[in-house]
Amino acid sequence: MTSREIRKQFLDFFESKGHLIVPSAPLVAKNDPTLMFNNSGMAQFKDFFLGNGTPPSKRIADTQKCLRVSGKHNDLEDVGFDTYHHTMFEMLGNWSFGDYFKKEALAWSWELLTEIYKLPKDRIYVSVFQGDEKDGVPFDQEAWDIWKAIVGEERIILGNKKDNFWEMGETGPCGPCSEIHIDLRDADEVALKSGKELVNADHPQVVEIWNNVFMQFERMADGSLVPLPSKHVDTGMGFERLCMAIQGKQSNYDTDVFQGTIKLIADKAGKVYGQDKWTDISLRVIADHIRAIAFAIADGQLPSNNKAGYVIRRILRRAVRYGYTYLGFREPFLHSIVPLLSEQFDGVFPELISQQDFVAKVILEEENSFLRTLENGLKLLDKITVDLKANNQTVINGEQVFELNDTFGFPVDLTALIARENGLSIDEEGYKAALQAQKERSRKDASTSAEDWVILQEVDKIEFVGYDEFETVSSVVKYQKVQNKQGTQYKVVLDKTPFYAESGGQVGDKGTISFGGVAIEVVDTKKENDLIVHFISDKRFESLVSDEPVKASIDLARRKLTNNNHTSTHLMQAALKQVLGSHVNQKGSLVNNEILRFDFSHFQKVTDEEIAQVEEIVNQKIRENIPLVEERNVPIAEATSRGAMALFGEKYGDFVRVITFDKNYSVELCGGTHVPATGNIGLFKIITETSVATGVRRIEAVTSEKAFEILREQEAILDQLNQLLKAPKDLVKAVASLLEEKNALAKKIEVFEQEKLQATKERLLNKIVSYGSINAIIEVVEVGSADALKQLAYELKAKVGDLYCVLGAEIAGKPQLAVMIADNLVAEKGLNAGQIIRELAKEVKGGGGGQPFFATAGGSDVSGLAKAIEKGKTFVNA
Ligand code: ATP
Ligand code: MG
Repeated sequence: MTSREIRKQFLDFFESKGHLIVPSAPLVAKNDPTLMFNNSGMAQFKDFFLGNGTPPSKRIADTQKCLRVSGKHNDLEDVGFDTYHHTMFEMLGNWSFGDYFKKEALAWSWELLTEIYKLPKDRIYVSVFQGDEKDGVPFDQEAWDIWKAIVGEERIILGNKKDNFWEMGETGPCGPCSEIHIDLRDADEVALKSGKELVNADHPQVVEIWNNVFMQFERMADGSLVPLPSKHVDTGMGFERLCMAIQGKQSNYDTDVFQGTIKLIADKAGKVYGQDKWTDISLRVIADHIRAIAFAIADGQLPSNNKAGYVIRRILRRAVRYGYTYLGFREPFLHSIVPLLSEQFDGVFPELISQQDFVAKVILEEENSFLRTLENGLKLLDKITVDLKANNQTVINGEQVFELNDTFGFPVDLTALIARENGLSIDEEGYKAALQAQKERSRKDASTSAEDWVILQEVDKIEFVGYDEFETVSSVVKYQKVQNKQGTQYKVVLDKTPFYAESGGQVGDKGTISFGGVAIEVVDTKKENDLIVHFISDKRFESLVSDEPVKASIDLARRKLTNNNHTSTHLMQAALKQVLGSHVNQKGSLVNNEILRFDFSHFQKVTDEEIAQVEEIVNQKIRENIPLVEERNVPIAEATSRGAMALFGEKYGDFVRVITFDKNYSVELCGGTHVPATGNIGLFKIITETSVATGVRRIEAVTSEKAFEILREQEAILDQLNQLLKAPKDLVKAVASLLEEKNALAKKIEVFEQEKLQATKERLLNKIVSYGSINAIIEVVEVGSADALKQLAYELKAKVGDLYCVLGAEIAGKPQLAVMIADNLVAEKGLNAGQIIRELAKEVKGGGGGQPFFATAGGSDVSGLAKAIEKGKTFVNA
């Protein structure tokens, strides 16, 4: 069975059991402060388990792109070394939201594995939660009884809290789970030792393939467990491991999921998979990592220097490094795997094939820059190595290893490897200490804590009314006291609110919530999962809050300015497509009351003319005063057929909100707020155009009041210029002729300087003092520049044999010194201009240096000049 068929069979099976099949959520987690990347199938349904919102069906199944490289689940360091953990993998899952429970879930998983996939029954083991006295959670008798009837007691293993009890977080839904393990060893090995003993023992061929989680409790902040009113099922099966089992392989990488990529990379490197340990590890690392990188970029997460972007950058660098060290790649290679990968996932995760070129270009650029980093790091390491050897030392200290990694992106294990090759080692303890110190620093920065939610009323649904209302009577549903960077804050949820929560690039509203007569300020509004959370810093909140009605009012002036910028973003995106081409796709945006920022795919700088055209079109659309057409419930297929573009990496429901300004000009899927008609914007002005990443440009622009302010500032600058130049008829001409005049004068001065220099030279030639065989010229002179002083010294050297010359001058208020010594004197008398000048420079509070025959110095104390010159005599006067 091919992997494509295996995936399809899973979805077909659960569809036949009444499940709704839904698409995978993007790899990059949105609106969840606790998660950077989706790391399990349930992540996109978290809200339903928390009781916020209702699922589209009580039974759902899908395949979810997961990434386990940060936070609670981090498998990165194992990937490539073992054969069954990936960074990105597909998790097949089925869910029951308050519908079926253990009996059906376990029976179906058995049916699918043994009847449909025909996996051998005598190679399967299952686990059941043994209970935990300290936690007050009982043994899972129910699961035990169900499995006993299906597989018999001898195939059941009891599991502890670590392996068999699942919790969403420190608080929230939790419950026992039951894992399914499979023994894939050869028959003769099985004969020697029972698979049962190898379950959960990190054996590469006795692996967990499926986990069934039964959510039946809620963990409270005080640690106690409360039974959930409706119970849920959440299952996750590793697709690549399943393929290994069904295809009779002993490694995920031997399945058709990975073999194509491995072959491609091996061919490029001129290697063969399966012959050498480090070659194989590297091929696995690369075949794995390219998937994580490509899908993260396709889902909108570009590699960058912080947060999720940095995680992706590190994965990419890990792949490049293994290729560099073990496969001999000196040129970028990862990007060339993208076409094969996108073909493999065509029809499964279409986001890759439709952005193939973009993804490959981003990867290529990252590879190039990291290969440069690697080379720079190697140079630095060379230097460290040479220094150490010179001092007879053999250990690179921990701080240096840390710095190489942290500042130069140079991986620790590569440092260790190169050290070994040079007969050195690294101070691992010291490195760990430095790393730990940094972790402490960042933990301090991010430390937060939260108390339990205080619930004032049960509601089915939170309503956002802020498209139509700006002041609303509502009531508090629940609130939570938290400690974060802002200090103590209250997170407040209302049953109905006009406050727009930050999303789609638009900032959250500010405003007030009034309790009785007292208005309390709302400092920000954010989405957390599906809740609209109002942030309040005012401590009076706690004494005012009750279940009485409150009045929620947004800061309308601020909202209106934000609307101007949001609508302008739409108008500008359409204009960019007209001017630059249809490849322009949104890659990020920020809209607030001051500015709009828009990132989009485009591979060159946007020229001044193109910027002018975009401004022209947008302002034209503003003058046309096009009315807003807002539709709140358009089926997604209809919206896209009307030309609205769905953003990659964004999750949409079946019905979407469509914002249109002239159906032939701008149609977008958008949840944000907008002006009633474009005329409200008044004026649109682009202020910067820059690059943010390979293939991604950023434009910042301002509108209405802000745009007008900028024009006024520019006018003021022109006014000042006009006044300075005494109001000429033509300002540009006036400045141009001023520059011309300045250049002509500069030339004239140059001629005068030269004449003066020659005169000075003649004068000095008459002042030669002899000290034995030495001809000394030791004088303060008048010259216009340090260069002129140097020229003078050289010309004297050309004219006078056996010269010892010390010159000083005051140039633009600062002392300047030069020492020139004939080559034969340097050789015979041991005179050294570089050493002498350092002594002289002390007199003028300065420093300098040079060669034995010529040196210069500058200083800060002109009053010492005469003394410095006097001192110059002492070197020949002896
Ligand atoms: P393991 O102990 O093997 O790391 P897990 O306990 O972390 O697995 P779960 O969180 O229960 O796994 O995830 C459900 C299923 O997803 C697992 O049974 C396994 O098949 C699969 N899985 C988990 N982590 C990975 C990974 N890094 N790569 C591939 N598949 C994975
Ligand atoms: Mg794990």
